[in-house]
Amino acid sequence: MTVTLDWLGCATFRLTVDDLVIFLDAYIDRVPSAPPVGIAAAEVDRADYVFIGHSHFDHIAGAEIIAANTGAKVIGSNETARVLIESGIPNDQLLRAQGGEHFRLSDDVTVRVYPSLHSCIWSTASSIPKEVVLGDYGLTEDQRWSSPRVRPQPSSDDPQEVREMAEHLNSCIGSSDTGGALAYVIETPQGSIFYHDTSGCWTRVISDLRPDVAIVAMAGRPNIDGEPIQGSLTQFVGRMASTLRPKQMYLGHHDDWMPPSTRDMSSEEALAPVRVELARVEPRVSLVSVGYMEGTRLLE
Ligand SMILES: [Zn+2]
Repeated sequence: MTVTLDWLGCATFRLTVDDLVIFLDAYIDRVPSAPPVGIAAAEVDRADYVFIGHSHFDHIAGAEIIAANTGAKVIGSNETARVLIESGIPNDQLLRAQGGEHFRLSDDVTVRVYPSLHSCIWSTASSIPKEVVLGDYGLTEDQRWSSPRVRPQPSSDDPQEVREMAEHLNSCIGSSDTGGALAYVIETPQGSIFYHDTSGCWTRVISDLRPDVAIVAMAGRPNIDGEPIQGSLTQFVGRMASTLRPKQMYLGHHDDWMPPSTRDMSSEEALAPVRVELARVEPRVSLVSVGYMEGTRLLE
């Protein structure tokens, strides 16, 4: 059995298990100023499944193109299904999930779906992985969303960038609601792969999973059990490693996917503190850093 993983930028990956092709998120077509990932959604000619972690545009956009061109089935929340139906995808291509489902993907590959959490977008955050951010703890929804901490829409001083961003957001399908974040564990005869696409988790939901490979999102203010982490992104990755205890870990959502409002956290320099934290809390896990479309072999 041959298992390969391609990073397609942001939290989007293509996983192949022999002939089975699975997209993890579908956001491939980004703003023109973002570094190209080497393929466009319209160029995807083979896909059996698309798993959507949540319904924001930077995860779901492109799923309608891949589903229409390949006939792939899409697994996602009710909100993901609603957005895709509005985009013209037939209902029989949509598999609704909220966590607890176990889908067969081929004769020997299945996926289990788990409830997860979105990062705290209402909360103070840092794009410097090792920077500790404290506070915003114990707030109710009205306090969270009325707070001046809620970040404004990405902006730029460059009128061309502003225009490109507006055109991009207009062209992307997506929802202002997360739809409820989901995590996935793909089970193959050679091992299992955990995937989520935003920095959050219910620790007691995932604490016994023990995947061989974990793909963990590193962006924003991580959400642990419904509260913003009192710490850093680096510590969140360490927390995921010590909870899941995978052999290998890959990161997602940490590239410069929407400049100027994002910055690159995927360089070796940016990842150095992550490696230090992993060596401290879970030294057996190997953090594998990959570029776009490298076709990395997994579970060998
Ligand atoms: Zn999101």
